[in-house]
Amino acid sequence: MATFPIRVFGDPVLKRAAAEVTDIDGKFVKLVDTMFDTMYEAPGVGLAAPQVGVQQRFFVYDVGDDPQILINPRIVETAGEWLYEEGCLSIPGMAFEIVRPKLITVEAIDLDGNEVVIEGDELLGRVFLHEIDHLDGVLMFDRLDEVQRKAAIREWRRRELAGEIRADADHAL
Ligand SMILES: [Zn+2]
Repeated sequence: MATFPIRVFGDPVLKRAAAEVTDIDGKFVKLVDTMFDTMYEAPGVGLAAPQVGVQQRFFVYDVGDDPQILINPRIVETAGEWLYEEGCLSIPGMAFEIVRPKLITVEAIDLDGNEVVIEGDELLGRVFLHEIDHLDGVLMFDRLDEVQRKAAIREWRRRELAGEIRADADHAL
């Protein structure tokens, strides 16, 4: 099983917006397979391409149903609010309670090149928002208020210096 190393906070690739996917060819399908292996091995429930250093707009996920992929996703509608403690494979070991919309409708392309419209509620909706943030170069830290964000980044630096960074987050995205 081939896997990619997962990029962690501090890697500049995580702060850049990714480019639209233009070719769904054999090479792309192989890349997607390796992304799935990387996500399951982590383990995580979602993984966006920039997290493995690929600057393309797609992510893979599995919230317990089946492995899924959304290519060039766009949020078309959101509703409600939901508080969830998010983890991130690129910020291993840390989790934050973040309020975001509860129900999210996304338009995207699937691996066969077909347009799909998909609704995500609660965890699935959170996966969509979190992974699309990754495609825009936005991390969980950016979703905290200024005081929380500074404290969180200080704590990250402390762990980094202490050699405590490890991938142990549950349900990480
Ligand atoms: Zn993440």
